[in-house]
Amino acid sequence: VSWKDLVCAACSGRVAEGRCPTCRAAREQFLADRPSVPALAVATASGVLAVVVVALRVAGLA
Ligand SMILES: [Zn+2]
Repeated sequence: VSWKDLVCAACSGRVAEGRCPTCRAAREQFLADRPSVPALAVATASGVLAVVVVALRVAGLA
């Protein structure tokens, strides 16, 4: 699974599509020649948030 498959927790779109500022910021980080530690942190946070959002929807809580 590459970063292009990540789903944005803010707009529910693919990060690669850059639909919102969060997507674009994350995409720029991923596209950087040398990913920094903050970039990895953003990717991890986005992934966790996406999983939480999906879990809540499945549970019917959101
Ligand atoms: Zn987004």
